Amino acid sequence: MKTCHRFATIKAGFERDASILSAHAERHQGSAPAKTSAKNAVTVKRNMARALNTHLDRCRECG
Ligand SMILES: [Zn+2]
Repeated sequence: MKTCHRFATIKAGFERDASILSAHAERHQGSAPAKTSAKNAVTVKRNMARALNTHLDRCRECG
């Protein structure tokens, strides 16, 4: 499947957020903020899937 530049930009942004949150969760493992970060990382990944799917539905370049 071919994807456009915009797709890559959306993906990169979400992945950066998710990796920051995951790294934070790992560094503070077991603590309350770590649990929040881990949960937020899951949410970010879910939002990424949704955003990319929405993009694919609407984009003429991707497909
Ligand atoms: Zn696209």
